[in-house]
Amino acid sequence: MGQHSSASASRLLGLDGFEVLAAEVAGGEWRLAVQTTAELVGCPGCGVRAQAHGRRTVQVRDLPIGGRPVVLCWRKRIWRCREPACGVRTWTEQVAAIRPRAVLTERARAEACRRVGKDAHAVAAVARDLGVGWATIMRAVGDHGRPLVDAPTRLEDVTALGLDETSFLKATRVAPTRYVTGLVDLEGGRLLDVVADRTRAAVHRWLDARSREWLAHIGTVALDPWRGYASALVVPLGHATVVVDHFHAIKLANAAVDQVRRRTQQAALGHRGRKRDPLYRIRKLLLTAAEQLTSRGRVRLRAGLAAGDPGGEVAAAWQGKELLRAVYAADDLVDARAALGRFYRWADGVGVPELSRLARTVRAWEAEVLAFHTTDGCSNGPTEAMNLLIKKIKRVGHGFRNFTNYRLRLLLHCGVRWQTHQTAKLRSCSPRLVA
Ligand SMILES: [Zn+2]
Repeated sequence: MGQHSSASASRLLGLDGFEVLAAEVAGGEWRLAVQTTAELVGCPGCGVRAQAHGRRTVQVRDLPIGGRPVVLCWRKRIWRCREPACGVRTWTEQVAAIRPRAVLTERARAEACRRVGKDAHAVAAVARDLGVGWATIMRAVGDHGRPLVDAPTRLEDVTALGLDETSFLKATRVAPTRYVTGLVDLEGGRLLDVVADRTRAAVHRWLDARSREWLAHIGTVALDPWRGYASALVVPLGHATVVVDHFHAIKLANAAVDQVRRRTQQAALGHRGRKRDPLYRIRKLLLTAAEQLTSRGRVRLRAGLAAGDPGGEVAAAWQGKELLRAVYAADDLVDARAALGRFYRWADGVGVPELSRLARTVRAWEAEVLAFHTTDGCSNGPTEAMNLLIKKIKRVGHGFRNFTNYRLRLLLHCGVRWQTHQTAKLRSCSPRLVA
């Protein structure tokens, strides 16, 4: 392309108010000389028509074109006021598309935010692609992401609230594992917020910040009963039905099976489970839902128990776990009650301490366990799905140190709805070329 402004190139660049003067590929990158098209500019001080007073070139990186990185060489105009009585002498033009002293165009910054937020790409990878530093990308994520996260409409229309804890920082030699609590919209399947810590005070503070109308709209709350959450809900959400969902109940039952397995291993072998120990080899099969075991899995499970569980305590705990699962799998409340009776009788009869403790917990939360069958739409799906997403973000972030960044990235990934252009299928659209 030559040295004259090209209308096609300007349209292709598509940066409002700019035209392309020249384009060349240097070092594998497009270098586009651009300038603004505005000719009639008034002085910001007195409004008198300004006079052109030369140019100064700045470089910013823009979105790639045709897979090639793009550098805009913006011939920024300097204007001068001719009015002698005016205090303003000269000034440099400013545009919304490129902020003063920016190294990226605003649309490149918005795209960086979308990639890090929506697509969960690593900040470092996006920084490398755009040829800028980590901090530049993280600032763009903050500037473009915070308005999305802070939008008051984001929290609208929640009727079923889920509470769940997840680890934020794994324990180190000097500090214990730090946890956060995720608040999930169970119907819409989105993350509403993340609060530091898993205490009732943290949840209470969040609920306190909600309006009376918002709270009144919540009909169901699903939670992990083995945390102090329930008491945080009493006042603000006293009207809602509290449910112990499938996900959390089975998590606890699995923990009981695991404890019995480890105790039995330790008693028989005098050490913790090792690769070749029969119970250790079936540790995952023990936690698999019975109906999901393959025939080979069932054979291995039976063989492992026969070899490593002579007292039958692990098998008894496994049976207890399956009986508790049946409570959740029941068709209706009547069946669920009957299944719960079978679980209690089994747990009370076999005399395995871990199972007795599980039964005590379930008894304490019996109404909330059975409420699973009286509240429509309280599924464990969203919470589970959210946990997977949270793990994914954590992997990409290589272990977050900064809670504010962690929360922002989680909410951008699972808590906001992104407006994205729907690309039409090429075969179904007929192109109309303009010269
Ligand atoms: Zn002036």
